[in-house]
Amino acid sequence: MVTGERIAEILEGYDDLVMATVCSHSSLQIFHGARQEGFRTLGIAIGQQPKFYDAFPRARPDDFLIVDAYEDLPRHAEELVDMGAVAVPHGSFVEYLGAKAFVDLEVPTFGNRRVIGWESDRDKQRYWLSQAGVDMPAKIDNPDAIDHPVFVKYYGAKGGRGAFIAKNYDDFLEHVDKSQPYIIQEYVVGTRYYLHFFYSPLGKEGYRLSKGTLEVLGVDRRDESNIDEMYKLGSQEGLKKLGVYPTFVVTGNIPVVLRESLLPKAMEMGEKVVEASLDLFGGMIGPFCLETIVTDQLQFKVFEISSRIVAGTNLFVAGSPYSELVEPGMSTGRRIARELRRAEETGTLLKVVS
Ligand code: AMP
Repeated sequence: MVTGERIAEILEGYDDLVMATVCSHSSLQIFHGARQEGFRTLGIAIGQQPKFYDAFPRARPDDFLIVDAYEDLPRHAEELVDMGAVAVPHGSFVEYLGAKAFVDLEVPTFGNRRVIGWESDRDKQRYWLSQAGVDMPAKIDNPDAIDHPVFVKYYGAKGGRGAFIAKNYDDFLEHVDKSQPYIIQEYVVGTRYYLHFFYSPLGKEGYRLSKGTLEVLGVDRRDESNIDEMYKLGSQEGLKKLGVYPTFVVTGNIPVVLRESLLPKAMEMGEKVVEASLDLFGGMIGPFCLETIVTDQLQFKVFEISSRIVAGTNLFVAGSPYSELVEPGMSTGRRIARELRRAEETGTLLKVVS
């Protein structure tokens, strides 16, 4: 991992920060938000300059860095530093580059890189969430003990790819790919809510934590193919006979609001997860998402945490029903830029960049 001293040394040489990210996932929102806060922007792309930004002029990066493959990015670190880049991680950025290469990248990065090790290993993630005291789906250690529906998934942000439901041991054996690390969770029946938070270590006003403040900037639900539409063809059991199996590949996002009585619980969960992160690894800075299922007993079960901007925030480029109540027009992308700006102005960049 790059040391804090090295990042401090690089930042000393910076005049104007440029917000840089990989051209995918939530890049339109990040570039748009950066512009709103007066930053220049840099898009990192493979092979050639992507044309689709021409369709979105207010979110088009000012410059591009074109690389042959994401794995080559570490070799472009010096170039990025010469441009004054601060990398803004998102799910695809970390997944394409690989968690290890990401934490070693010698470019200042928004947030605390130490979070990546805690998030990308599902067992460590579980330890963190259990230290926070939030409810999670039960973990099944022994697959031959499967006697009720379980959910099997692999490590890393794969947009649901490869995950499957097993109702017994035979189901599990039929679908599992043992060459990759996986975990088995109890399948929780309920409604899925993906809660978008922002933790600011610099914040002084608002929903206060032991250090800094917590905001909720939106909530979405993911549209997953083919599970979300397969009911139209009949029961899953019937479809199985035809060789059609449920898959969980994220294809889009739907905005939601929580019933208001769930909001205090949501804030409390966000608070506990941040406080645990402060104790365990110095804090998860900036945006994060608690991926939850709410049961008919109105209990949240957190099945995953994403410790950076999630693509569901793209719904709220112009603000959400929650961010409207903090500052109109505030997206998560813009909130990242605002935090960088505040840190720059108060000489506290090292509190939000690593
Ligand atoms: P994940 O890879 O953890 O993001 O999960 C992908 C999708 O699988 C989620 O968006 C949910 O639809 C579903 N899912 C994950 N974990 C569970 C669980 N424990 N119970 C029910 N559904 C789940």
